[in-house]
Amino acid sequence: MRLQMYIDGQWVDAVDDETRDIINPFNQEVIATVAEGGEKDAKKAVAAARRAFDNGAWATTPASERGAIVHEIGRLIRSSRQELAELETLDTGKTVSESLDDMDDIANVFIYFAGLADKEGGEVIDSPIPDSESKVVREPVGVCGQITPWNYPLLQAAWKLAPALAAGNTLVMKPSEITPLTTVKVFELFEQAGVPTGVANLVLGPGNTAGAHLSESTDVDLISFTGGMQTGKKIMQAASSNVKKLALELGGKNPNIIFADADFDVAVDQALNAAFFHAGQVCSAGARVLVESSIHDAFIDALVNRAKHIKLGNGFSEETQSGPLISAEHREKVETYVAIGQEEGAKLALGGKRPEAEELHQGFFYLPTIFTNCTADMRIVQEEVFGPVLTVETFETTEEAVAKANDTIYGLAGAIFTADIAKAENVVTQLRMGTVWINDFHPYFAQAPWGGYKQSGIGRELGRPGLEEYTETKHVFRNIKPEPLEWFK
Ligand code: NAD
Repeated sequence: MRLQMYIDGQWVDAVDDETRDIINPFNQEVIATVAEGGEKDAKKAVAAARRAFDNGAWATTPASERGAIVHEIGRLIRSSRQELAELETLDTGKTVSESLDDMDDIANVFIYFAGLADKEGGEVIDSPIPDSESKVVREPVGVCGQITPWNYPLLQAAWKLAPALAAGNTLVMKPSEITPLTTVKVFELFEQAGVPTGVANLVLGPGNTAGAHLSESTDVDLISFTGGMQTGKKIMQAASSNVKKLALELGGKNPNIIFADADFDVAVDQALNAAFFHAGQVCSAGARVLVESSIHDAFIDALVNRAKHIKLGNGFSEETQSGPLISAEHREKVETYVAIGQEEGAKLALGGKRPEAEELHQGFFYLPTIFTNCTADMRIVQEEVFGPVLTVETFETTEEAVAKANDTIYGLAGAIFTADIAKAENVVTQLRMGTVWINDFHPYFAQAPWGGYKQSGIGRELGRPGLEEYTETKHVFRNIKPEPLEWFK
C-alpha cells in the first residue's frame, strides 16, 4: 500500500519525495509506505486552505448543505466500517472489535455534527438601548490546523474534522506520523462525499516540521491539538505568533475511587477495563486506583487474579483481549517508568515485564502491571505512563479520597464506585476534572463534551461546545432610529 497526501483537491507525494514505512506493532511488518511531508508540504496545504476559506464559498454554503455533506461522510464511514477497522488494527495493534466500535463512534460523530450544523445559527438578544435591535451570529473561525495522536487515530481526527467542516471552516489535518492510514482513507471518502477543493487538506509527516508549521503559521486561525502535554505546551507557545484560537486535549492520570460499599465484582471488573483497555494507551485510562483501606487486600487479590488472565495477542484473533504497545520506543518509556516505580518503593503485584510467549516476541507487548503500596509523591503515581500500568493507593475517609484524587496536575477524567449515590454526588462536586463517571468507567459519546481541567487541556471537543470551538461569535447591533448624538456639540 502506497499512500499520498491530499492538498488542494489533489493526491500528492511530498515536495521532497520523502516516504515513511508504516509498521504493524504486532509483528513489525511494513504495512504501507506513505508520503512523508514536512514544512514545505504543510505550507502548501495551509495556502490551499487559506484560499478556500478566503473565497468564501464554503463558509457561505448554507449550513444545511454543509451538514448534508458531513452526514454523507458519516454514512460512507458506516458502510466502510469493516475495511477501516481492519486498517486501524493493522496500524495500532488494537483488537478488531475495538476498532469496529471506534468506527461506529466515528460515524456517529460525523452524523451528530451534521445534525448540529444548521442549529447553532445565533440568537436575537434583548438590547437595553431603545429603538435598537441586537443579535449574535456565529461564523467560522477560518483556517484550522488539526494535529492528532496515535492511540485513537481516526477517532481523534473525527472529533476535529466533523465540527470544523460543519461550521464552515477550512482545514489542514496532520495525523500522527506513525498511524496515518485510516485518516488517509477518510479523506478519500471526503472526496466521494463532495467536500469542495481546498476545504479539507491532509499533510503527513513529523510533528517538529509539518506539525510545527501548522502551529506557527500566521495563515492558520485556529489550532486544535490532541497529544502529550509537553507537545501541547510547545504548540501553545508557537500559536502565540498570531494569537491563534487554541484547543488542547492533553494527557491524564485519572483516579478511579473505589469505596468499600461499592458492588465489589462490578468495581473489580471496571477497574480492569479502566486500566488495561487498549493496553492502557488511553488518555482517560483509570491508571490510578484509590481504594478504601478496609477492602484493599481483597480488591487487589481479585484484580491481580483477573489481570493475569488478560489474553495478549494479534488484534485479528478473536481470542485476543489486548494488543501490543504502539512502538519499541513507547515500550521502552513504559519500562523506564516501571523501573522508576520499583526504585520509589512501590510493590510490584503483577507484571513488570514483557510476556515470555514466543509468538509475542515480534510485537511490542508488555504485561498488565499492578503496583501496590503507592503514595501520591511517587512519579509512577503522578506522571502519565500511557501503558498497562496501574498504581494502587488507599484511603480511609471521603475527604482523603477527594484530596488524593485531585492531587495531580491533570484533570481529564475520573470515576467513583459506591452504592451511596448521595456520597457519589457529593464527591463529584469536589473533583477537578472534565468527566466523572459514577459506577462506570470510559463512556463517552458525541453528544457529551470531552476535555480537561488543569493541565489536561483547554476547550472541549464533542457536544455543542465541540462545534462552538470552531465558531467566532459576532454581535450585530442596529440602531433603528439613527439620530445625531451631539456628544461633541
Ligand atoms: P505527541 O504529543 O507525541 O504527538 C501528538 C501529535 O503531535 C503527533 O501528530 C505529532 O506528530 C505531533 N507533534 C509532535 N511534536 C510537535 C510539534 N512540536 N509541533 C506540532 N505538532 C507536534 O502524543 P502521542 O504520543 O502521539 O499521543 C499520546 C498522548 O496523547 C498522551 O499524552 C495522551 O494522553 C494524549 N491524548 C489525549 C487525548 C484527550 O482527549 N485528552 C486523547 C488521546 C490522546
